[in-house]
Amino acid sequence: MSIIGFIGLGNMGVPMAANLATAGHTVLGFDPAPDAHASAAARGIRVVETLHSAVEGADAVMTMLPSGAIVCAVWDAIIASAQRGTLLIDSSTIDVDSARTIHTRAKAVGLLSLDAPVSGGTEGAGAGTLTFMVGGDAQSFAAGEPLLARMGSRIVHCGAPGNGQAAKICNNMILGVTMIAVSEAFNLADRVGLSRQSLFDVASASSGQCYALTTHCPVPGPVPTASSNHGYRPGFASELMLKDLSLSQDVAAASGTTTQLGSLACDIFDRFVAQGGRGRDYAAVVEFLRA
Ligand code: NAD
Repeated sequence: MSIIGFIGLGNMGVPMAANLATAGHTVLGFDPAPDAHASAAARGIRVVETLHSAVEGADAVMTMLPSGAIVCAVWDAIIASAQRGTLLIDSSTIDVDSARTIHTRAKAVGLLSLDAPVSGGTEGAGAGTLTFMVGGDAQSFAAGEPLLARMGSRIVHCGAPGNGQAAKICNNMILGVTMIAVSEAFNLADRVGLSRQSLFDVASASSGQCYALTTHCPVPGPVPTASSNHGYRPGFASELMLKDLSLSQDVAAASGTTTQLGSLACDIFDRFVAQGGRGRDYAAVVEFLRA
């Protein structure tokens, strides 16, 4: 078993790092915010006081952070502390350019690197059933796959550095659009006197079936584990969904691609976040659309 540095002990980082600890790895966790320290320590993660302490001597270092700018800054610090041959894995959702930049910087000093963003949310992180979309060279992928398999049930090598982020951005554009579609369907059902449970029972076994309905159902009742039954506590915060949709629109503009529903979803989440959605799970967009 190996020593893993884990940087970013937030909603996703803690359960992911906990699964590595459960698998027998020594996990050294670092996060400047004290909020998650107690829950991380309770789940077998050794919380350390500095990033350097988490990285020095580690066989692999994972990052699970909010944005591309933060990941670039943190990777610069990691690269300064890591020993040659260490594998660096970023599982945050960030822009493709930042992902390619950090790969280049890591490779220049003899480190292996992967961009490995995830799908499956906090539910999948807790259950160890995340999907990892991975970009990086074959040597790095071979080194990282066994580790990722401790946190996920599906590991897809998408090709060259940055391609994991490209896959993630496309996937989350689908998620943002479908969460709005599912929310509008429930709001319509309410208006015409169709019960939420009836719509769920039909659509979850019909062609309307999708993750936004069956796992992250935006209305309380049908799916007990969904944030809608827990005051829309994230989960996956609305501002992170807005971030991902904005990334999709940046890539769309840069590649000359028209994504009409992606653009509309980005606009809706932009207004939702500005009008009270910040800090709430993205499924709460159902209330914004109802209003
Ligand atoms: P979060 O805000 O709960 O956690 C991020 C953590 O990073 C925080 O604890 C913060 O203190 C820490 N952090 C910020 N700056 C830091 C720094 N310089 N050094 C060390 N730690 C630092 O976010 P999250 O929900 O865990 O998401 C993390 C990433 O995963 C994001 O990129 C998000 O888009 C992606 N993601 C989230 C979900 C989800 O359902 N929450 C699903 C898939 C992907």
